[in-house]
Amino acid sequence: MTQQDSNQTTDFDYICIGGGSGGIASANRASKHGQRVALIEAKAIGGTCVNVGCVPKKAMWYGAQVAEAINLYAPDYGFDVTVNKFDWAKLVASREAYIKRIHGSYDRVLGNNKITVINGFATFVDKNTVEVNGKQYTAKHILIATGGRPVQPQIPGTELGIDSNGFFALNEQPKRAVVVGAGYIAVELAGVMHALGTDTHLVVRKHAPLRNFDPAISETLVELMAQHGPTLHTHATPSKIVKNADSSLTITFENGESIETDCVIWAIGREPANDKIGLDKIGVELDDKGYIKVDKFQNTNIDGVYAVGDNIGKVELTPVAVKAGRLLSERLFNGQSSAHMDYELIPTVVFSHPPIGTIGLTEPEAIEKYGKDNITVYNSSFAAMYTAVTSNRQMTKMKLVCVGKQQKVVGLHGIGYAMDEIIQGFGVAMKMGATKADFDACVAIHPTSSEEFVTM
Ligand code: FAD
Ligand code: NDP
Repeated sequence: MTQQDSNQTTDFDYICIGGGSGGIASANRASKHGQRVALIEAKAIGGTCVNVGCVPKKAMWYGAQVAEAINLYAPDYGFDVTVNKFDWAKLVASREAYIKRIHGSYDRVLGNNKITVINGFATFVDKNTVEVNGKQYTAKHILIATGGRPVQPQIPGTELGIDSNGFFALNEQPKRAVVVGAGYIAVELAGVMHALGTDTHLVVRKHAPLRNFDPAISETLVELMAQHGPTLHTHATPSKIVKNADSSLTITFENGESIETDCVIWAIGREPANDKIGLDKIGVELDDKGYIKVDKFQNTNIDGVYAVGDNIGKVELTPVAVKAGRLLSERLFNGQSSAHMDYELIPTVVFSHPPIGTIGLTEPEAIEKYGKDNITVYNSSFAAMYTAVTSNRQMTKMKLVCVGKQQKVVGLHGIGYAMDEIIQGFGVAMKMGATKADFDACVAIHPTSSEEFVTM
Protein backbone atom coordinates (compact mmCIF):
# COMPACT_ATOMS: atom_id res chain seq x y z
CA MET A 1 0.00 0.00 0.00
CA THR A 2 1.30 3.43 -0.89
CA GLN A 3 0.68 5.59 2.15
CA GLN A 4 0.27 9.30 1.75
CA ASP A 5 3.41 11.34 2.48
CA SER A 6 4.20 15.03 2.23
CA ASN A 7 6.00 14.76 -1.15
CA GLN A 8 3.34 12.71 -2.79
CA THR A 9 1.18 13.83 -5.67
CA THR A 10 -2.17 15.28 -4.76
CA ASP A 11 -3.67 14.93 -8.22
CA PHE A 12 -5.22 11.64 -9.33
CA ASP A 13 -7.40 10.24 -12.10
CA TYR A 14 -9.79 8.71 -9.59
CA ILE A 15 -10.45 9.23 -5.89
CA CYS A 16 -12.56 6.75 -3.94
CA ILE A 17 -13.92 8.06 -0.65
CA GLY A 18 -14.40 5.07 1.67
CA GLY A 19 -12.17 2.03 1.94
CA GLY A 20 -14.99 -0.48 2.35
CA SER A 21 -16.41 -3.09 -0.01
CA GLY A 22 -17.39 -0.69 -2.81
CA GLY A 23 -14.47 1.74 -2.62
CA ILE A 24 -11.74 -0.90 -2.53
CA ALA A 25 -13.27 -2.91 -5.39
CA SER A 26 -13.67 0.13 -7.61
CA ALA A 27 -10.20 1.48 -6.79
CA ASN A 28 -8.49 -1.83 -7.57
CA ARG A 29 -10.33 -2.21 -10.86
CA ALA A 30 -9.53 1.38 -11.90
CA SER A 31 -5.86 0.89 -11.17
CA LYS A 32 -5.84 -2.34 -13.25
CA HIS A 33 -6.94 -0.12 -16.13
CA GLY A 34 -3.97 2.18 -15.66
CA GLN A 35 -5.54 4.91 -13.58
CA ARG A 36 -3.74 6.84 -10.82
CA VAL A 37 -5.98 6.11 -7.86
CA ALA A 38 -6.32 7.37 -4.29
CA LEU A 39 -8.43 5.56 -1.69
CA ILE A 40 -9.43 7.57 1.38
CA GLU A 41 -10.47 5.72 4.54
CA ALA A 42 -11.35 7.38 7.84
CA LYS A 43 -11.25 4.25 10.03
CA ALA A 44 -10.14 0.72 9.15
CA ILE A 45 -9.52 -0.62 5.67
CA GLY A 46 -12.21 -3.12 4.68
CA GLY A 47 -15.07 -0.97 5.97
CA THR A 48 -18.18 -2.36 7.61
CA CYS A 49 -18.03 -5.84 6.10
CA VAL A 50 -14.53 -6.72 7.23
CA ASN A 51 -14.43 -4.90 10.56
CA VAL A 52 -17.94 -4.77 12.01
CA GLY A 53 -20.14 -6.69 9.60
CA CYS A 54 -20.12 -9.84 7.48
CA VAL A 55 -16.74 -11.17 8.55
CA PRO A 56 -16.84 -10.90 12.37
CA LYS A 57 -20.53 -11.88 12.23
CA LYS A 58 -19.78 -15.04 10.26
CA ALA A 59 -16.94 -15.93 12.66
CA MET A 60 -19.38 -15.67 15.57
CA TRP A 61 -21.94 -17.68 13.59
CA TYR A 62 -19.39 -20.44 13.01
CA GLY A 63 -18.73 -20.41 16.77
CA ALA A 64 -22.46 -20.82 17.27
CA GLN A 65 -22.49 -23.74 14.80
CA VAL A 66 -19.84 -25.49 16.89
CA ALA A 67 -21.93 -24.92 20.01
CA GLU A 68 -25.04 -26.37 18.33
CA ALA A 69 -23.09 -29.37 17.06
CA ILE A 70 -21.89 -30.09 20.60
CA ASN A 71 -25.12 -29.36 22.43
CA LEU A 72 -27.82 -30.52 20.03
CA TYR A 73 -26.34 -33.16 17.75
CA ALA A 74 -23.15 -34.71 19.19
CA PRO A 75 -24.92 -36.98 21.74
CA ASP A 76 -26.98 -38.88 19.15
CA TYR A 77 -23.90 -39.21 16.93
CA GLY A 78 -22.36 -41.11 19.82
CA PHE A 79 -20.17 -38.42 21.35
CA ASP A 80 -20.22 -38.02 25.11
CA VAL A 81 -18.83 -34.47 25.21
CA THR A 82 -18.08 -32.51 28.33
CA VAL A 83 -17.46 -28.83 27.76
CA ASN A 84 -15.46 -27.31 30.59
CA LYS A 85 -16.16 -23.78 29.51
CA PHE A 86 -16.90 -21.57 26.54
CA ASP A 87 -14.36 -18.73 26.31
CA TRP A 88 -16.00 -15.81 24.48
CA ALA A 89 -12.79 -13.75 24.64
CA LYS A 90 -10.89 -16.57 22.88
CA LEU A 91 -13.44 -16.64 20.06
CA VAL A 92 -13.15 -12.85 19.75
CA ALA A 93 -9.35 -13.07 19.69
CA SER A 94 -9.41 -15.73 16.94
CA ARG A 95 -11.88 -13.61 14.98
CA GLU A 96 -9.78 -10.45 15.30
CA ALA A 97 -6.58 -12.29 14.32
CA TYR A 98 -8.37 -13.46 11.17
CA ILE A 99 -9.48 -9.88 10.43
CA LYS A 100 -5.88 -8.70 10.90
CA ARG A 101 -4.82 -11.18 8.23
CA ILE A 102 -7.50 -9.79 5.89
CA HIS A 103 -6.14 -6.26 6.51
CA GLY A 104 -2.68 -7.55 5.55
CA SER A 105 -3.99 -9.06 2.36
CA TYR A 106 -5.84 -5.83 1.43
CA ASP A 107 -2.67 -3.84 2.06
CA ARG A 108 -0.71 -6.15 -0.24
CA VAL A 109 -3.23 -5.93 -3.08
CA LEU A 110 -3.59 -2.14 -2.80
CA GLY A 111 0.20 -1.84 -2.72
CA ASN A 112 0.63 -4.11 -5.77
CA ASN A 113 -1.91 -1.96 -7.58
CA LYS A 114 0.01 1.19 -6.58
CA ILE A 115 -3.03 2.77 -4.99
CA THR A 116 -2.36 5.71 -2.67
CA VAL A 117 -4.18 5.05 0.59
CA ILE A 118 -4.96 8.17 2.58
CA ASN A 119 -6.04 7.79 6.20
CA GLY A 120 -8.54 10.41 7.26
CA PHE A 121 -12.02 11.80 6.80
CA ALA A 122 -12.68 13.34 3.36
CA THR A 123 -14.93 16.30 2.70
CA PHE A 124 -15.72 17.88 -0.65
CA VAL A 125 -14.23 21.27 -1.49
CA ASP A 126 -15.61 21.26 -5.03
CA LYS A 127 -16.68 18.50 -7.39
CA ASN A 128 -13.08 17.61 -8.28
CA THR A 129 -11.44 18.33 -4.93
CA VAL A 130 -11.61 16.74 -1.48
CA GLU A 131 -9.87 17.74 1.72
CA VAL A 132 -8.38 15.26 4.19
CA ASN A 133 -6.52 16.32 7.33
CA GLY A 134 -6.21 19.87 5.96
CA LYS A 135 -4.69 18.75 2.63
CA GLN A 136 -6.47 18.95 -0.72
CA TYR A 137 -6.58 16.21 -3.37
CA THR A 138 -7.99 16.51 -6.87
CA ALA A 139 -9.32 14.07 -9.46
CA LYS A 140 -11.41 14.10 -12.60
CA HIS A 141 -13.61 11.34 -11.16
CA ILE A 142 -14.66 10.93 -7.52
CA LEU A 143 -16.54 7.98 -6.06
CA ILE A 144 -18.53 8.30 -2.83
CA ALA A 145 -18.53 4.88 -1.13
CA THR A 146 -19.01 5.99 2.44
CA GLY A 147 -21.42 3.22 3.51
CA GLY A 148 -23.83 3.48 6.42
CA ARG A 149 -24.13 3.32 10.18
CA PRO A 150 -26.62 1.88 12.70
CA VAL A 151 -29.54 3.97 13.94
CA GLN A 152 -30.86 4.14 17.51
CA PRO A 153 -34.42 4.84 18.65
CA GLN A 154 -35.21 8.20 20.25
CA ILE A 155 -36.36 7.01 23.68
CA PRO A 156 -35.17 7.68 27.24
CA GLY A 157 -32.12 5.55 28.01
CA THR A 158 -31.25 4.79 24.36
CA GLU A 159 -27.58 5.36 25.16
CA LEU A 160 -27.66 2.44 27.63
CA GLY A 161 -28.02 0.10 24.65
CA ILE A 162 -25.33 -0.80 22.12
CA ASP A 163 -25.55 -1.40 18.37
CA SER A 164 -23.91 -3.99 16.10
CA ASN A 165 -20.59 -2.10 16.35
CA GLY A 166 -20.90 -2.36 20.14
CA PHE A 167 -21.67 -6.07 19.87
CA PHE A 168 -18.40 -6.70 18.06
CA ALA A 169 -16.57 -4.74 20.78
CA LEU A 170 -17.88 -7.04 23.56
CA ASN A 171 -14.98 -8.86 25.16
CA GLU A 172 -17.15 -10.59 27.70
CA GLN A 173 -20.22 -12.66 27.01
CA PRO A 174 -23.37 -11.06 28.42
CA LYS A 175 -25.31 -13.52 30.56
CA ARG A 176 -28.56 -11.98 29.38
CA ALA A 177 -29.30 -9.91 26.28
CA VAL A 178 -32.24 -8.22 24.58
CA VAL A 179 -31.93 -7.66 20.84
CA VAL A 180 -34.40 -5.12 19.43
CA GLY A 181 -35.18 -5.22 15.70
CA ALA A 182 -36.62 -7.47 13.04
CA GLY A 183 -34.13 -7.49 10.16
CA TYR A 184 -31.01 -9.39 9.20
CA ILE A 185 -28.85 -8.03 12.01
CA ALA A 186 -31.34 -8.60 14.83
CA VAL A 187 -32.03 -12.18 13.74
CA GLU A 188 -28.36 -12.99 13.24
CA LEU A 189 -27.04 -11.48 16.48
CA ALA A 190 -29.87 -12.90 18.60
CA GLY A 191 -29.31 -16.36 17.09
CA VAL A 192 -25.56 -16.28 17.71
CA MET A 193 -25.90 -15.11 21.30
CA HIS A 194 -28.54 -17.69 22.10
CA ALA A 195 -26.52 -20.54 20.60
CA LEU A 196 -23.43 -19.47 22.55
CA GLY A 197 -25.35 -19.59 25.82
CA THR A 198 -26.60 -16.05 26.48
CA ASP A 199 -30.20 -15.91 27.72
CA THR A 200 -31.42 -13.97 24.70
CA HIS A 201 -34.69 -12.18 23.92
CA LEU A 202 -35.50 -11.00 20.40
CA VAL A 203 -38.02 -8.18 20.44
CA VAL A 204 -39.94 -7.13 17.30
CA ARG A 205 -42.49 -4.35 17.03
CA LYS A 206 -44.76 -6.18 14.54
CA HIS A 207 -45.95 -9.81 14.31
CA ALA A 208 -42.68 -11.48 13.25
CA PRO A 209 -39.03 -11.01 12.36
CA LEU A 210 -38.05 -10.85 8.65
CA ARG A 211 -41.63 -10.10 7.70
CA ASN A 212 -40.55 -8.83 4.27
CA PHE A 213 -39.22 -12.29 3.42
CA ASP A 214 -41.52 -14.95 1.95
CA PRO A 215 -44.15 -15.75 4.61
CA ALA A 216 -43.17 -19.45 4.60
CA ILE A 217 -39.64 -18.45 5.60
CA SER A 218 -40.61 -15.99 8.29
CA GLU A 219 -43.19 -18.38 9.78
CA THR A 220 -40.76 -21.30 9.81
CA LEU A 221 -38.09 -19.16 11.46
CA VAL A 222 -40.56 -18.33 14.23
CA GLU A 223 -41.42 -22.05 14.68
CA LEU A 224 -37.76 -23.03 14.80
CA MET A 225 -36.93 -20.24 17.25
CA ALA A 226 -39.61 -21.62 19.54
CA GLN A 227 -37.79 -25.00 19.55
CA HIS A 228 -34.16 -23.89 19.92
CA GLY A 229 -33.76 -20.16 19.73
CA PRO A 230 -34.00 -16.83 21.46
CA THR A 231 -37.26 -16.00 23.22
CA LEU A 232 -39.33 -14.02 20.73
CA HIS A 233 -41.48 -11.08 21.85
CA THR A 234 -43.82 -9.67 19.21
CA HIS A 235 -45.80 -6.41 19.05
CA ALA A 236 -43.34 -4.84 21.47
CA THR A 237 -41.98 -1.34 20.84
CA PRO A 238 -39.39 -0.11 23.35
CA SER A 239 -40.38 2.95 25.37
CA LYS A 240 -37.43 3.34 27.77
CA ILE A 241 -34.37 1.74 29.36
CA VAL A 242 -33.22 2.34 32.91
CA LYS A 243 -30.07 1.23 34.70
CA ASN A 244 -30.70 -0.59 37.98
CA ALA A 245 -28.67 -0.36 41.20
CA ASP A 246 -26.90 -3.65 40.41
CA SER A 247 -25.93 -2.30 36.93
CA SER A 248 -28.47 -4.48 35.16
CA LEU A 249 -30.84 -2.81 32.68
CA THR A 250 -34.61 -2.84 32.51
CA ILE A 251 -36.12 -2.26 29.08
CA THR A 252 -39.79 -1.39 29.03
CA PHE A 253 -42.15 -1.60 26.05
CA GLU A 254 -45.22 0.37 25.05
CA ASN A 255 -47.38 -2.72 25.70
CA GLY A 256 -46.37 -2.58 29.37
CA GLU A 257 -44.04 -5.58 29.19
CA SER A 258 -40.51 -5.19 30.58
CA ILE A 259 -37.37 -7.34 30.62
CA GLU A 260 -34.40 -7.19 32.98
CA THR A 261 -31.16 -7.84 31.18
CA ASP A 262 -27.41 -7.15 31.07
CA CYS A 263 -27.22 -5.87 27.52
CA VAL A 264 -29.60 -4.24 25.03
CA ILE A 265 -28.65 -4.34 21.35
CA TRP A 266 -30.34 -1.98 18.90
CA ALA A 267 -30.66 -3.58 15.48
CA ILE A 268 -33.44 -1.47 14.01
CA GLY A 269 -31.82 -0.48 10.73
CA ARG A 270 -29.06 1.65 9.27
CA GLU A 271 -28.74 5.08 7.69
CA PRO A 272 -26.35 6.43 5.03
CA ALA A 273 -23.08 8.05 6.17
CA ASN A 274 -23.37 10.97 3.76
CA ASP A 275 -24.26 13.88 5.95
CA LYS A 276 -20.85 15.25 6.97
CA ILE A 277 -18.93 15.08 3.71
CA GLY A 278 -19.96 18.39 2.14
CA LEU A 279 -22.42 17.06 -0.43
CA ASP A 280 -24.47 20.23 -0.03
CA LYS A 281 -21.39 22.22 -1.09
CA ILE A 282 -21.32 20.55 -4.52
CA GLY A 283 -25.09 20.06 -4.83
CA VAL A 284 -25.34 16.25 -4.84
CA GLU A 285 -29.03 15.29 -4.68
CA LEU A 286 -30.25 13.09 -1.84
CA ASP A 287 -33.58 11.33 -1.35
CA ASP A 288 -35.80 12.06 1.65
CA LYS A 289 -33.89 9.53 3.79
CA GLY A 290 -30.50 11.02 2.97
CA TYR A 291 -29.44 8.35 0.43
CA ILE A 292 -27.54 9.60 -2.63
CA LYS A 293 -29.65 9.60 -5.78
CA VAL A 294 -27.92 7.79 -8.65
CA ASP A 295 -28.95 6.62 -12.11
CA LYS A 296 -28.40 3.04 -13.28
CA PHE A 297 -24.76 3.87 -14.07
CA GLN A 298 -24.11 5.06 -10.47
CA ASN A 299 -23.90 8.69 -11.68
CA THR A 300 -25.03 11.32 -9.21
CA ASN A 301 -26.54 14.52 -10.61
CA ILE A 302 -23.04 16.08 -10.54
CA ASP A 303 -20.80 15.28 -13.49
CA GLY A 304 -17.79 13.19 -12.47
CA VAL A 305 -19.19 12.28 -9.04
CA TYR A 306 -20.52 8.75 -8.48
CA ALA A 307 -21.85 6.66 -5.58
CA VAL A 308 -22.04 2.92 -4.86
CA GLY A 309 -22.89 0.72 -1.88
CA ASP A 310 -24.93 1.23 1.25
CA ASN A 311 -25.16 5.00 0.80
CA ILE A 312 -27.49 4.76 -2.21
CA GLY A 313 -30.22 2.85 -0.35
CA LYS A 314 -30.73 0.02 -2.81
CA VAL A 315 -29.51 -3.43 -1.77
CA GLU A 316 -27.18 -3.24 1.22
CA LEU A 317 -24.92 -6.23 0.67
CA THR A 318 -21.16 -6.47 0.21
CA PRO A 319 -21.18 -8.26 -3.16
CA VAL A 320 -23.57 -5.59 -4.46
CA ALA A 321 -21.21 -2.76 -3.46
CA VAL A 322 -18.27 -4.70 -4.91
CA LYS A 323 -19.96 -5.42 -8.23
CA ALA A 324 -21.32 -1.89 -8.63
CA GLY A 325 -17.85 -0.47 -7.86
CA ARG A 326 -16.10 -2.73 -10.36
CA LEU A 327 -18.66 -2.13 -13.10
CA LEU A 328 -18.34 1.61 -12.60
CA SER A 329 -14.58 1.38 -13.16
CA GLU A 330 -15.11 -0.81 -16.22
CA ARG A 331 -17.40 1.86 -17.65
CA LEU A 332 -15.21 4.85 -16.77
CA PHE A 333 -11.78 3.41 -17.48
CA ASN A 334 -12.15 0.41 -19.79
CA GLY A 335 -14.50 1.64 -22.49
CA GLN A 336 -17.45 -0.53 -21.39
CA SER A 337 -19.90 2.29 -21.92
CA SER A 338 -23.03 0.30 -21.04
CA ALA A 339 -21.63 -1.55 -17.98
CA HIS A 340 -24.00 -1.16 -15.04
CA MET A 341 -25.19 -3.04 -12.00
CA ASP A 342 -28.28 -5.23 -12.38
CA TYR A 343 -30.19 -5.15 -9.10
CA GLU A 344 -32.55 -8.03 -10.07
CA LEU A 345 -32.32 -11.61 -8.71
CA ILE A 346 -29.62 -10.96 -6.13
CA PRO A 347 -29.10 -14.04 -3.97
CA THR A 348 -28.92 -13.31 -0.23
CA VAL A 349 -28.52 -15.30 2.96
CA VAL A 350 -29.51 -14.55 6.53
CA PHE A 351 -27.15 -16.36 8.88
CA SER A 352 -29.92 -17.43 11.21
CA HIS A 353 -30.29 -20.81 12.92
CA PRO A 354 -30.78 -22.51 10.52
CA PRO A 355 -29.76 -20.18 7.70
CA ILE A 356 -32.16 -18.65 5.21
CA GLY A 357 -31.45 -18.28 1.50
CA THR A 358 -33.55 -16.29 -0.91
CA ILE A 359 -33.42 -15.14 -4.54
CA GLY A 360 -35.99 -13.05 -6.37
CA LEU A 361 -39.67 -12.52 -5.66
CA THR A 362 -41.60 -13.74 -2.64
CA GLU A 363 -44.92 -15.43 -3.37
CA PRO A 364 -46.94 -12.28 -2.47
CA GLU A 365 -44.62 -10.13 -4.62
CA ALA A 366 -44.99 -12.48 -7.59
CA ILE A 367 -48.78 -12.49 -7.23
CA GLU A 368 -48.82 -8.71 -7.13
CA LYS A 369 -46.57 -8.43 -10.18
CA TYR A 370 -47.98 -11.20 -12.39
CA GLY A 371 -51.45 -12.00 -10.96
CA LYS A 372 -52.37 -15.10 -8.96
CA ASP A 373 -53.48 -17.10 -12.04
CA ASN A 374 -50.05 -16.78 -13.63
CA ILE A 375 -48.13 -18.11 -10.64
CA THR A 376 -47.31 -21.72 -9.76
CA VAL A 377 -45.75 -22.39 -6.38
CA TYR A 378 -43.89 -25.54 -5.34
CA ASN A 379 -43.20 -26.29 -1.68
CA SER A 380 -41.07 -28.85 0.06
CA SER A 381 -40.77 -29.56 3.74
CA PHE A 382 -38.56 -32.16 5.42
CA ALA A 383 -36.18 -32.70 8.32
CA ALA A 384 -32.56 -32.14 7.22
CA MET A 385 -30.77 -35.48 7.42
CA TYR A 386 -27.94 -34.10 9.57
CA THR A 387 -30.54 -33.42 12.23
CA ALA A 388 -33.01 -36.19 11.36
CA VAL A 389 -30.73 -38.94 12.67
CA THR A 390 -30.78 -37.21 16.07
CA SER A 391 -33.58 -36.44 18.49
CA ASN A 392 -33.29 -32.74 17.58
CA ARG A 393 -34.95 -32.95 14.17
CA GLN A 394 -34.88 -29.59 12.46
CA MET A 395 -37.28 -28.60 9.71
CA THR A 396 -36.16 -27.45 6.27
CA LYS A 397 -38.63 -25.56 4.08
CA MET A 398 -38.15 -24.71 0.44
CA LYS A 399 -40.26 -22.86 -2.09
CA LEU A 400 -40.09 -22.19 -5.81
CA VAL A 401 -42.21 -19.42 -7.28
CA CYS A 402 -42.75 -19.82 -11.03
CA VAL A 403 -44.46 -17.61 -13.57
CA GLY A 404 -46.40 -18.20 -16.79
CA LYS A 405 -46.92 -21.33 -18.91
CA GLN A 406 -43.15 -21.74 -19.18
CA GLN A 407 -42.94 -21.68 -15.38
CA LYS A 408 -39.89 -19.45 -15.31
CA VAL A 409 -38.47 -19.55 -11.79
CA VAL A 410 -38.74 -16.01 -10.40
CA GLY A 411 -38.45 -16.80 -6.69
CA LEU A 412 -36.43 -19.36 -4.72
CA HIS A 413 -36.59 -19.48 -0.93
CA GLY A 414 -35.30 -21.83 1.70
CA ILE A 415 -34.69 -22.13 5.40
CA GLY A 416 -32.75 -25.07 6.71
CA TYR A 417 -29.43 -26.74 7.35
CA ALA A 418 -26.73 -25.61 4.85
CA MET A 419 -29.06 -23.23 3.00
CA ASP A 420 -26.26 -20.65 3.08
CA GLU A 421 -24.17 -22.86 0.78
CA ILE A 422 -27.03 -24.22 -1.34
CA ILE A 423 -28.43 -21.27 -3.23
CA GLN A 424 -25.51 -19.63 -5.06
CA GLY A 425 -25.63 -21.97 -8.08
CA PHE A 426 -29.39 -21.60 -8.32
CA GLY A 427 -28.76 -17.88 -8.59
CA VAL A 428 -26.77 -18.55 -11.78
CA ALA A 429 -29.60 -20.65 -13.18
CA MET A 430 -32.19 -17.99 -12.41
CA LYS A 431 -30.05 -15.26 -13.97
CA MET A 432 -29.99 -17.42 -17.11
CA GLY A 433 -33.79 -17.53 -17.06
CA ALA A 434 -34.21 -21.14 -15.89
CA THR A 435 -37.68 -22.70 -15.89
CA LYS A 436 -39.08 -25.37 -13.59
CA ALA A 437 -38.43 -27.86 -16.43
CA ASP A 438 -34.74 -26.82 -16.46
CA PHE A 439 -34.56 -27.39 -12.71
CA ASP A 440 -36.20 -30.83 -13.15
CA ALA A 441 -33.81 -31.72 -15.99
CA CYS A 442 -30.87 -31.45 -13.61
CA VAL A 443 -30.05 -34.76 -11.92
CA ALA A 444 -30.25 -34.58 -8.14
CA ILE A 445 -27.26 -34.99 -5.84
CA HIS A 446 -28.25 -37.53 -3.23
CA PRO A 447 -28.52 -37.44 -0.27
CA THR A 448 -28.45 -33.69 0.16
CA SER A 449 -30.92 -30.94 1.00
CA SER A 450 -30.20 -29.11 -2.25
CA GLU A 451 -31.62 -31.98 -4.33
CA GLU A 452 -35.10 -30.97 -3.20
CA PHE A 453 -34.90 -27.86 -5.39
CA VAL A 454 -34.68 -30.08 -8.50
CA THR A 455 -37.19 -32.73 -7.43
CA MET A 456 -40.22 -30.72 -6.30
P1 FAD B 1 -18.74 0.23 3.96
O1 FAD B 1 -18.24 -1.14 3.90
O2 FAD B 1 -19.50 0.65 5.17
O3 FAD B 1 -17.48 1.18 3.77
C1 FAD B 1 -17.58 2.57 3.88
C2 FAD B 1 -16.26 3.08 4.43
O4 FAD B 1 -16.19 4.48 4.22
C3 FAD B 1 -16.09 2.89 5.94
O5 FAD B 1 -14.90 2.16 6.18
C4 FAD B 1 -16.02 4.29 6.51
O6 FAD B 1 -15.11 4.40 7.59
C5 FAD B 1 -15.53 5.07 5.31
N1 FAD B 1 -15.90 6.48 5.31
C6 FAD B 1 -17.13 7.02 5.53
N2 FAD B 1 -17.09 8.36 5.34
C7 FAD B 1 -15.82 8.66 5.00
C8 FAD B 1 -15.16 9.85 4.68
N3 FAD B 1 -15.82 11.01 4.61
N4 FAD B 1 -13.84 9.81 4.41
C9 FAD B 1 -13.17 8.64 4.43
N5 FAD B 1 -13.75 7.46 4.71
C10 FAD B 1 -15.05 7.48 4.99
N6 FAD B 1 -23.46 -8.02 3.72
C11 FAD B 1 -23.34 -9.23 3.12
O7 FAD B 1 -23.30 -9.30 1.89
N7 FAD B 1 -23.24 -10.38 3.86
C12 FAD B 1 -23.25 -10.36 5.21
O8 FAD B 1 -23.16 -11.42 5.85
C13 FAD B 1 -23.38 -9.10 5.87
N8 FAD B 1 -23.38 -9.04 7.21
C14 FAD B 1 -23.46 -7.81 7.83
C15 FAD B 1 -23.46 -7.77 9.21
C16 FAD B 1 -23.55 -6.56 9.87
C17 FAD B 1 -23.55 -6.52 11.37
C18 FAD B 1 -23.61 -5.36 9.11
C19 FAD B 1 -23.67 -4.02 9.80
C20 FAD B 1 -23.61 -5.38 7.73
C21 FAD B 1 -23.55 -6.62 7.07
N9 FAD B 1 -23.57 -6.72 5.68
C22 FAD B 1 -23.48 -7.93 5.07
C23 FAD B 1 -23.69 -5.49 4.84
C24 FAD B 1 -22.32 -5.07 4.30
O9 FAD B 1 -21.41 -4.94 5.37
C25 FAD B 1 -22.46 -3.74 3.56
O10 FAD B 1 -23.46 -3.86 2.58
C26 FAD B 1 -21.15 -3.33 2.90
O11 FAD B 1 -20.12 -3.22 3.83
C27 FAD B 1 -21.35 -2.00 2.17
O12 FAD B 1 -20.15 -1.58 1.57
P2 FAD B 1 -19.86 -0.04 1.30
O13 FAD B 1 -18.59 0.03 0.55
O14 FAD B 1 -21.07 0.61 0.75
O15 FAD B 1 -19.68 0.60 2.74
P1 NDP C 1 -33.05 -3.99 8.29
O1 NDP C 1 -33.49 -2.80 7.55
O2 NDP C 1 -32.82 -5.26 7.55
O3 NDP C 1 -34.06 -4.32 9.47
C1 NDP C 1 -34.35 -3.44 10.48
C2 NDP C 1 -35.76 -3.75 10.94
O4 NDP C 1 -35.95 -3.32 12.27
C3 NDP C 1 -36.81 -3.02 10.13
O5 NDP C 1 -37.09 -3.72 8.94
C4 NDP C 1 -37.99 -2.97 11.07
O6 NDP C 1 -38.76 -4.17 10.94
C5 NDP C 1 -37.32 -2.95 12.44
N1 NDP C 1 -37.39 -1.60 13.04
C6 NDP C 1 -37.21 -0.42 12.42
N2 NDP C 1 -37.35 0.60 13.28
C7 NDP C 1 -37.65 0.05 14.47
C8 NDP C 1 -37.91 0.59 15.76
N3 NDP C 1 -37.90 1.89 15.98
N4 NDP C 1 -38.15 -0.27 16.77
C9 NDP C 1 -38.17 -1.59 16.56
N5 NDP C 1 -37.92 -2.17 15.36
C10 NDP C 1 -37.67 -1.35 14.33
O7 NDP C 1 -31.76 -3.48 9.03
P2 NDP C 1 -30.53 -4.21 9.68
O8 NDP C 1 -29.92 -3.15 10.51
O9 NDP C 1 -30.91 -5.51 10.28
O10 NDP C 1 -29.60 -4.51 8.43
C11 NDP C 1 -29.26 -3.51 7.49
C12 NDP C 1 -28.92 -4.15 6.19
O11 NDP C 1 -27.61 -4.71 6.25
C13 NDP C 1 -29.81 -5.31 5.80
O12 NDP C 1 -31.02 -4.88 5.20
C14 NDP C 1 -28.94 -6.08 4.85
O13 NDP C 1 -29.05 -5.53 3.55
C15 NDP C 1 -27.55 -5.85 5.40
N6 NDP C 1 -27.13 -7.03 6.17
C16 NDP C 1 -26.93 -8.19 5.48
C17 NDP C 1 -26.61 -9.34 6.14
C18 NDP C 1 -26.42 -10.60 5.35
O14 NDP C 1 -26.23 -10.53 4.15
N7 NDP C 1 -26.44 -11.76 5.98
C19 NDP C 1 -26.44 -9.38 7.59
C20 NDP C 1 -26.66 -8.09 8.22
C21 NDP C 1 -26.99 -6.97 7.52
P3 NDP C 1 -40.36 -4.12 11.18
O15 NDP C 1 -40.87 -3.04 10.30
O16 NDP C 1 -40.79 -5.50 10.78
O17 NDP C 1 -40.52 -3.82 12.63
